[in-house]
Amino acid sequence: MSEKLKAVRSNIAAAELSAGRKEGSVTLVAVSKTFDADDIRPVIDAGQRIFGENRVQEAQSKWPDLKRDHPDIELHLIGPLQSNKTADAVALFDVIETVDREKIARTIAEESRKQGRAPRLYVQVNTGSEPQKAGVAPDETLDFVNLCRNEYDLAVEGLMCIPPFDENPGPHFALLEKLARELGVERLSMGMSADYETAIAFGATSVRVGSAIFGVRGKKTG
Ligand SMILES: *Cc1c(COP(=O)(O)O)cnc(C)c1O
Repeated sequence: MSEKLKAVRSNIAAAELSAGRKEGSVTLVAVSKTFDADDIRPVIDAGQRIFGENRVQEAQSKWPDLKRDHPDIELHLIGPLQSNKTADAVALFDVIETVDREKIARTIAEESRKQGRAPRLYVQVNTGSEPQKAGVAPDETLDFVNLCRNEYDLAVEGLMCIPPFDENPGPHFALLEKLARELGVERLSMGMSADYETAIAFGATSVRVGSAIFGVRGKKTG
């Protein structure tokens, strides 16, 4: 486990170097979905502090205890958010990467006020315009980010994308980087186990890596 984590970290460092990026400029979000607390603890013990989960309910079943033991952990929501789960998400997550519609922006703003707790926010962009996929359309991103900023007083810190499974991800990463530049948004969450080095070459500031650290999901080897 910690060997895999070490390998991913050294690949990230090499990708930073070859892209002419500053050392340490890319944040590793370790995606622990489907793995339980016993699988996650060794990764925490190896020094990893930033984790991603894609379901609010699943995250609630393991992270409150882990966060109590390690208060410096930063938890990212990287899966779609239903508005009836917003209160729970605002209470548990430090970063919500999947803001993608007005109702979610509004409920996050309301809950943040109520709870006195404001997670940092990314807007998810559906760079491949896939009908089944969450995220705002690329040509609506500017209006949506401005709506978040002006209507709901939400600071949008980053953009996030999941390129179509069967396409070269490069053009999708390039599109996200271009949108972020136009919007003056600092953070770019893009790249997963199969393509995080490519994403770093295109300017990712964080990569979301699951199976390369935890192993293949649903095939636990212990
Ligand atoms: C599962 C998931 C990942 C990690 O995928 P791997 O291929 O296991 O690295 C990254 N981002 C999102 C949004 C995910 O749901």
